[in-house]
Amino acid sequence: MSPTLSARVRRTLRRHPDRTAVQDGPTVLSYRELGARADRVAAAVRAAHPGPAAVGVLAERGAQAYTALLGTLFAGAAMVPLAPEHPPARTRGALAAAVAEAGLSVLLVDRAGAALLPELAGELTGVTVLHLDRTPAGDAPDAPDAPDAPDAPDAPGVTAAPTPPAGKEPGDDTTAYVLFTSGSTGRPKGVPISHGNVGHYLDQVQLRYAFDHRDVFSQTFDLTFDLAVFDLFAAWSAGASVVTVRPGAFVNLPRFAARTGLTVWFSAPSAIGAVRRGPGLAPDTLPGLRLSLFCGEALLAEDAADWQRAAPGSRVENLYGPTELTISCSVFGWDGDARPERCVNGVVPIGDLHDGLSALLLPPGPGPVPADQPEQGELCVTGPQLFRGYLDRADDTGRFVEHDGRRWYRTGDLVRRVPGVGLCYLGRIDQQVQIGGIRLELPEVEWALRQIEPVRQAAVVYAAGRLVAFCTPSPGGPDPAAEVRQRLRAFLPGPAVPQDLRWLSELPLNVNGKVDRRALALLATEGR
Ligand code: AMP
Repeated sequence: MSPTLSARVRRTLRRHPDRTAVQDGPTVLSYRELGARADRVAAAVRAAHPGPAAVGVLAERGAQAYTALLGTLFAGAAMVPLAPEHPPARTRGALAAAVAEAGLSVLLVDRAGAALLPELAGELTGVTVLHLDRTPAGDAPDAPDAPDAPDAPDAPGVTAAPTPPAGKEPGDDTTAYVLFTSGSTGRPKGVPISHGNVGHYLDQVQLRYAFDHRDVFSQTFDLTFDLAVFDLFAAWSAGASVVTVRPGAFVNLPRFAARTGLTVWFSAPSAIGAVRRGPGLAPDTLPGLRLSLFCGEALLAEDAADWQRAAPGSRVENLYGPTELTISCSVFGWDGDARPERCVNGVVPIGDLHDGLSALLLPPGPGPVPADQPEQGELCVTGPQLFRGYLDRADDTGRFVEHDGRRWYRTGDLVRRVPGVGLCYLGRIDQQVQIGGIRLELPEVEWALRQIEPVRQAAVVYAAGRLVAFCTPSPGGPDPAAEVRQRLRAFLPGPAVPQDLRWLSELPLNVNGKVDRRALALLATEGR
């Protein structure tokens, strides 16, 4: 069994107590401080509910939320991060599912989370709410305020001596965290990830990147996105420190990176566009980075090349994976070769699966798994990072395929195997559109748009039977949309040319920092 998340952090607490664990603006925590605060959270959680299965953390991204998450693990519970800035209906849905299906019995809130409690009241029956300390850098919970809560761990709870987690030690199958992905019905789908799943993942990235106590990790991801689990726990397993990167830092990333000593960058590729708007992507402006990792959506070859020039001492890597396969399941090291047979549609390959995982490609449409693997198809993956199934078993329908005596997760992503490269990402299966008698992949239309001046970024959605393209940057002069559409005909058959092309100053991003295609689809149908 590979060590649990809390065992990994405990090991670091013993080895490097005085090293910096967290830098969040003016708040700097050593491992000793982080451990002591997380212990106080754990003690308060266990006083409120002995042996909780899952604890919600409804708190803004930053030192206090990180400590609360670690405290949850120290209490022997699964972490359920929730974000105060998400729409309340989404948080309500996630909370209801976590209470009913993951045994959430304690909710930790900061000030922003507390403000939402009236809206969440209907989901809090039987849940003890603990308020994280009201001082900016603090994180020890105050008194619980649920009507039927046990006695408050007020001052004694806050100052209690560290105590080890009570009850059964978590095993490989115990849930380490639960995250929610948006379901097609709007009801969030709960994804439980076990200590065995995440332990395998962390072992893989540690082998590949050899993190150590000299590393300084960026923390750019929303805590409800599994990539944040990498930020915190890959760093804390190695005695490295974690720096909270708020969107304002993108404006002048070189200055921020130099001031905080960043060595490991990890973000969604869309962040590259934000950094480019400042001085951040000029050559050699990020000399301190040794590793630059991108994950969450397609990484454009052009963006990877720009980033590589800005950070010449850095390995630039494209990680790929859905939440259900634990953070990332494949990786490709950028080597500067953007030939179209490997960078299909100008997108960096997603490369090879992490060790221990296996891939299966399914051709489109129903039918049995073919004996001969197609060159192209829906990527299905199995192995030790595969989650056990959604919290609500009804959500499993259609998401798995049984083959070779094993259960495989259907990613919904279309990939092609390219010899010497591994897997190339072609788009989501649901980004395949049948239009004007041809089958079209939206990423190809986006690629064609990017070939045309003045388009820099492009996102194409299919809404109400039409293709609508959203492009940046907004041109200053007369709108050249008609001309761009005309020039697209050199690259695309007629039906593939978007009927509508609109300019935006920037593409909208969702809470995970990815291009928000749902918002664009809504925009596409507006005013029609
Ligand atoms: P999520 O479960 O929210 O992490 O979303 C996972 C989905 O994001 C995948 O199924 C892909 O469609 C997309 N994705 C993640 N990483 C990449 C990548 N490196 N390249 C292209 N798409 C990606």
